[in-house]
Amino acid sequence: MVSPTRCRVVVVGGGVAGISAAVELALSGVPVMLLEARRRLGGRASSFHDASRGCWYDNSQHIALGCCTAYRELCRRIEVEDDFDWYTRQQWVEAGGRVTTIQPGMFPPPLHYAESFLGAAFLSPADKFAIGRAMIAIRFADREAWKSRTFGEFLRTAGQPQTSIDRFWSPIIVSACNLHVDRVSASPALKVFQEGFLAGTGASAMGIPRVPLVELYRHVPRILSEAGGEVRLGMAVERIEPGRVRTVGGGEVRAESVVCALPFEKAIGRLFNDRGEPDGRLKALSGVGFSTILGVHVQYDRPVLSHPSAVLVERGTHWLFRRGSVGDEFQAVISAADEWAGLTDEAIIGRVASDICACFPGAPATPRWARAVRERRATWAATPAFEAARPAPGWTPGGVILAGDYTAVDWPATMEGAARSGKAAAIAAMETLGILPQSGSH
Ligand SMILES: Cc1cc2nc3c(=O)[nH]c(=O)nc-3n(C[C@H](O)[C@H](O)[C@H](O)COP(=O)(O)OP(=O)(O)OC[C@H]3O[C@@H](n4cnc5c(N)ncnc54)[C@H](O)[C@@H]3O)c2cc1C
Repeated sequence: MVSPTRCRVVVVGGGVAGISAAVELALSGVPVMLLEARRRLGGRASSFHDASRGCWYDNSQHIALGCCTAYRELCRRIEVEDDFDWYTRQQWVEAGGRVTTIQPGMFPPPLHYAESFLGAAFLSPADKFAIGRAMIAIRFADREAWKSRTFGEFLRTAGQPQTSIDRFWSPIIVSACNLHVDRVSASPALKVFQEGFLAGTGASAMGIPRVPLVELYRHVPRILSEAGGEVRLGMAVERIEPGRVRTVGGGEVRAESVVCALPFEKAIGRLFNDRGEPDGRLKALSGVGFSTILGVHVQYDRPVLSHPSAVLVERGTHWLFRRGSVGDEFQAVISAADEWAGLTDEAIIGRVASDICACFPGAPATPRWARAVRERRATWAATPAFEAARPAPGWTPGGVILAGDYTAVDWPATMEGAARSGKAAAIAAMETLGILPQSGSH
């Protein structure tokens, strides 16, 4: 029998939540072992290698907002904060090619977008008036009180015409929360506007990584090893319980503190309490639905996209993100894409190409190269029922410490939510070890 490996803290799952927990611990001087089933870090926020093209592509474009303070702090700690470009201007492109730039103007927050919004060509005066009224309601809305109702209900209560929902509210919320306005809990949707859009130029700035996502984690193994810990890739875990983790193949890691940073659907069935029973905190999550995101990488034989990114108004394809600066290669993103997921690659690429042609007259009918990436379980569906079932991150007596974007961190499924939960888990681990955090967390 192989004798068990011992360490102070073991973190299971090397996504953003697990990385955040492990780095927080390492920077407080705690030796930590990070176990990840795949051969690379990053989980859902990572990249794949396209052998035919010899380069890395992200599973889908990931963006951060200025208000993602925990994620940005994590990036600073893993020494990659300079790997992002930040943008405060957004281009909204209609069929026919008309472009509206939404950008901060002369008024202070929360009115900083008022000038460009009033001039927006894709909205009618009636829509603008209605949206302005709803923004005032959003600013003062109580998110907790709206948690059990959908954002669609909120919009109807705020008297929003369908055109304003189709042209303005949906593109923002479907992209941010990956769910249609009539399904998503109003609470995370309100947060997007309260803490992003309305909070100030810095809060709503969009950060786009300049490197493939997988490269953002390049310093993590060194940071952990400097504190006496390590990252172990290709280590699938089959059972997690307080003090002990069993890996597939019969290995065992014993630790004073255990953090489970698996997605909840993977933790269910693997996570047990100190009485050997399935962890009750995840019970309410079994049966929860997911929502698909589609990323379509395209390359044309000439430049098509002159902006770093573009929102396509009232098209099935929601956003385009340029790769490099030429504009011939970019990624199309379709959120809440369950309806697309069953289509063939050919059909998906055809739909995206036709949306691009509609909004960029002069674009070739078909790209020179294209590749569709389906993430069917991109995020959990942030319905009112799900919001009510989220367990708190951290520790409860007799249980393992929980981390993951699904925990109740008051954020939708995002890298920010994952980073926050990881930090909360690390602090809980340090408390169980009797250590005070040292990396500036308190
Ligand atoms: C296509 C797509 C687009 C997105 N766009 C954005 C965006 O623009 N902005 C944003 O902020 N967020 C975005 N998100 C959401 C974001 O990626 C997630 O919310 C976040 O990465 C979740 O991190 P996590 O650590 O909680 O979970 P995960 O990333 O799922 O990490 C869990 C880890 O556990 C590992 N694991 C699983 N089973 C085992 C096992 N048995 N043993 C050991 N390890 C195991 C997994 O391999 C994984 O690495 C997007 C997600 C997707 C899929």
